[in-house]
Amino acid sequence: MTTWLVTGGAGFIGGNFVLDAVARGIKIINLDVLTYAGNRDTLAAIAGDPGHVFVQGDIGDRALVAQLLDAHRPDAVLNFAAESHVDRSIDGPAAFVQTNVVGTLALLEAVRDYWKALPSGVKESFRFLHVSTDEVYGALGATGKFSETTAYAPNSPYSASKAASDHLVRAFHHTYGLPTLTTNCSNNYGPYHFPEKLIPLVIAKALAGEPLPVYGDGKQVRDWLFVSDHCAAIRTVLAKGRVGETYNVGGDAEMQNIDVVHAICALLDQRRPRADGVSRATQITYVADRPGHDRRYAIDASKLRNELGWAPQYTFAQGIAETVDWYLDNQAWVQRVLDGSYRLERIGASV
Ligand code: NAD
Repeated sequence: MTTWLVTGGAGFIGGNFVLDAVARGIKIINLDVLTYAGNRDTLAAIAGDPGHVFVQGDIGDRALVAQLLDAHRPDAVLNFAAESHVDRSIDGPAAFVQTNVVGTLALLEAVRDYWKALPSGVKESFRFLHVSTDEVYGALGATGKFSETTAYAPNSPYSASKAASDHLVRAFHHTYGLPTLTTNCSNNYGPYHFPEKLIPLVIAKALAGEPLPVYGDGKQVRDWLFVSDHCAAIRTVLAKGRVGETYNVGGDAEMQNIDVVHAICALLDQRRPRADGVSRATQITYVADRPGHDRRYAIDASKLRNELGWAPQYTFAQGIAETVDWYLDNQAWVQRVLDGSYRLERIGASV
């Protein structure tokens, strides 16, 4: 049976990835420290499944990681764990350096020790896959796209800490030969997204009849990718990627933030019209821009498409409709995040 150690598997992307992998019959050891962003409700469908072992712990705890590697002998380690919210990194960068840089280093060291001692045959096929972001490349003007050879130019404490972790992963390949893979993905959206990020925040506030905050002029451009397409890209890179390489992941779905908000309002107006019949777009409120807000990100994913044969399955229109429907159908999940009750079952969560 294939076994993967996944870190950060109670978060948005890691959670989607774990649910899918367990459904595919892969055994998952899920190491997550459960910050505010970690939510075991996301994993409710696989609670008690023998194919899923949840461990509450820190990627920076090298002894714990070593113990898990030794006990479960995974075929691969996939690192999703991170502090991930740009606004929080502006308020408090230290936690981002601690997890994304120091934590990733500790994880790499534990994994290197485990990999070095693997018997030949198994050792050659072992992989460490690091999940990263396109934000490491900085911002684009009106044209152009980020490729794997674009120079790193991170602009926020979040992206700077992710850039540092990418460099450590690269160094562990070049210095120690660790068989690493790195993916740099554009903005994700979809089910189980913590409602502090743009899309779930707008859905929640729209339904609550509250103002929909849009930073600055709302014309920041992001290249949106439905989360299941990202998960498929990660599986593809893990299976077929060339060791030591990085792969950009993106959906060719560039949208201005304001158009994303209008798309959500239009879907909600159809599916859950306001009692007064007024469009939810009237709730849009422009607020002061985020300091240092990157204007445009766009990904050239041709290496992943051409070399490894991955392609996104969702257009933005399909993905955003599915996302809005998921949030409408899963208001209990959202409510438990909004009222904080999702955090109450933490004590003794480790099994
Ligand atoms: P998230 O914030 O939703 O989840 C992060 C998870 O990591 C949480 O469950 C949290 O509890 C856990 N975690 C945090 N610190 C930890 C630690 N020290 N040890 C163990 N677990 C820890 O983030 P996400 O949006 O799911 O992103 C996952 C990864 O994908 C991140 O590395 C992020 O940089 C990257 N990424 C995200 C996006 C996006 O649009 N969300 C795009 C590209 C790349």
